[in-house]
Amino acid sequence: MTIFPEMFDAFAGHGIMRRAVESGKIRLEPVNIRDFAEGRHRVTDDRPYGGGSGMVMKPEPLAAAIETAKTELPEAPVVLLTPQGRRFDQDTARQYAACKEMIFICGRYEGLDERICEGYVDDEISIGDYVLTGGELPAMVVMDAVIRHIPGVLGAADAAECDSFSAGRLEHAHYTRPGVFEQKQVPGVLLSGNHRAIEDWRRESALLRTILRRPDLLEQTGLTEPEKKIVQK
Ligand code: SAM
Repeated sequence: MTIFPEMFDAFAGHGIMRRAVESGKIRLEPVNIRDFAEGRHRVTDDRPYGGGSGMVMKPEPLAAAIETAKTELPEAPVVLLTPQGRRFDQDTARQYAACKEMIFICGRYEGLDERICEGYVDDEISIGDYVLTGGELPAMVVMDAVIRHIPGVLGAADAAECDSFSAGRLEHAHYTRPGVFEQKQVPGVLLSGNHRAIEDWRRESALLRTILRRPDLLEQTGLTEPEKKIVQK
């Protein structure tokens, strides 16, 4: 639900998302909140009670839009994108991917009238501790991360389980041709054809990158026994 539905055209029109739409694995339906606003000008915002700068999204058009969507999608959780929500992560992406349907609400201006948050919203999600001008980009970020977990959306080769965070670690480094680029050589093991050795190298690469870049991920789970051996090496 957005006042700028056309922003989603680019999202659904390229690459993996386009293929997912075309193959019927997902259906995206941007809803224009303005269509549910009354009056000749279909106004969706108003001045804040108590004064101050900025505008607030009016409750009536949002309530009507959500109620209409709910008649078609009664089970869909209603998720509000807001910098005040809980921080989005890969675990939440995986949980959301189990939902058959979802409704995302994109705020604008200073945000929504609080009575919509209280009465109509099931979950409030932030994509990070910074403030954007609208919820459309956050909604696309969340939808992209969720859709990657829907079976069949990614090819087997780049399945989401191999990605960073899925196993609580960053993913290993990647290389492609040429074998030498600006005097830098691809690690020899990757050219060896020895699948066991390649797997070991990837596990090691993933662990070292996690230790160097995101040690906080290791604090959550601790090192596994094979990982302790890698560190001792
Ligand atoms: N006045 C609000 C505040 O300080 O909490 C910020 C409103 S922001 C300018 C407008 C809209 O952008 C929000 O209603 C929300 O939908 C979206 N938005 C901005 N930053 C976001 C973030 N980090 N995560 C999710 N949504 C965000």
